[in-house]
Amino acid sequence: MYSTNKSDIRKYIRKKKREYSSEELEALSLPVLERVLKHPKVIGADTILLYYSLPDEVCTHNLIDILYNQGKRIFLPKVVSPTEMTLCEYLGHDSLTSGAYGIMEPDERNKKQDSSSKFPTLNCALIPGVAFDSQGYRLGRGKGYYDRLLAKLLPADATYKIGLCFSFQLLSHIPHETHDIPMDEIISQ
Ligand code: ADP
Ligand code: MG
Repeated sequence: MYSTNKSDIRKYIRKKKREYSSEELEALSLPVLERVLKHPKVIGADTILLYYSLPDEVCTHNLIDILYNQGKRIFLPKVVSPTEMTLCEYLGHDSLTSGAYGIMEPDERNKKQDSSSKFPTLNCALIPGVAFDSQGYRLGRGKGYYDRLLAKLLPADATYKIGLCFSFQLLSHIPHETHDIPMDEIISQ
């Protein structure tokens, strides 16, 4: 995959994903999950940004509950506008509701209110992506949601950012612009 164009790479990965059923992708997620649970930055984190996976992403459904039951504070993104996400604290599976793009998110009542109240310091962030490259650059679905969210996390360096993906999503080079925030590490199968 040698394209220098973000949208061509998104198309290429969409095609690769169609080679797998959602059950196969869920099975391929298990080794990723195991590696996440053994990661020192995850073990040492008190506050973690996670995502409630869609069927074509590394499955995090069990991971969220495992880490939550270890006593960590888990935050999930919530889409609040065509460009912005905010963070909501995960307080158990029963408090999830379906939000924008069909993504499960914590109930509104758990929302960290608007931009005037600061996000909690997140020790670690586990982030999905369409593709990642060897420098840690991330390609998303094209709306820049995570770039904007990560830009708001302060202090930015305090959050260890880990991209989660399947091996076919690891590419040697992804074009990046100044707003693209790189990951500190990528974990795949
Ligand atoms: P993705 O990260 O989803 O792959 P892009 O990086 O291509 O998508 O960004 C999509 C759009 O979002 C771009 O037009 C970009 O300018 C905008 N964008 C990304 N991050 C920011 C930001 N921090 N502030 C303002 N606009 C941003
Ligand atoms: Mg980006």
